[in-house]
Amino acid sequence: MKENICVTGEGRAEKSIDKCELQTRLIRWAREHPADFPWRKRISRFHALAVEILLQRTKAVQVVPVFHRFRKVFPTAKDLASSRITTVRSLIRPLGLIWRAEFLKSLGEEIIKTGNRIPEEYNDLLVLPGVGPYAASAYLSLHRKIRRPIIDSNTVRLYCRLLGYSYDGETRRKQWIYDVADEMTPEEEFRTFNYALLDFTREVCKPKPECDRCPLTDICLGFRDR
Ligand code: SF4
Repeated sequence: MKENICVTGEGRAEKSIDKCELQTRLIRWAREHPADFPWRKRISRFHALAVEILLQRTKAVQVVPVFHRFRKVFPTAKDLASSRITTVRSLIRPLGLIWRAEFLKSLGEEIIKTGNRIPEEYNDLLVLPGVGPYAASAYLSLHRKIRRPIIDSNTVRLYCRLLGYSYDGETRRKQWIYDVADEMTPEEEFRTFNYALLDFTREVCKPKPECDRCPLTDICLGFRDR
């Protein structure tokens, strides 16, 4: 079924894209190129939220060894809350963005304070230390079966290229890009779709895109207009 969504990004010409085609092809691509990361298997809610904080602005492949160590050293939120900050810092140091250590420790303390309960509401998650829009949406849609669109620099790049729009570091904070991502995200297979987005933007529609192996060239306005 063809279902176009029409988008007008602030002061830009209206563009449209067939969202069913996009969803179908991205999901098919992901099934043909399965990625295996430890956080895609069954893990505790605490580890699921923590890993989404570790994955922010960080390459997934770098996070793998740190995440294995994190689970071993901090099997529960209580272990993290009662740890020394120096331990957390040295554990996540290989990833950079070392300020996340304070947030992670505070997150452990907060989870313990609220009886080991992690909220299932997007706005309640945002109140937790270190949890921003990306981590909250990723936690809910990838680990809790609650639909949320994923917006980060990679998905912004993909959506803007598909629609033939320019973008910059501030685009991800705009309402119109949220509306695009929300429209594109399927009602049912949102978890598979969101993982497909993350994998596809890591492997194909990278900062330097590999359009010659992309299954979206005929619906990508950026490719058509280049
Ligand atoms: S055709 Fe190129 S720019 Fe367009 S989505 Fe595919 S990889 Fe990205």
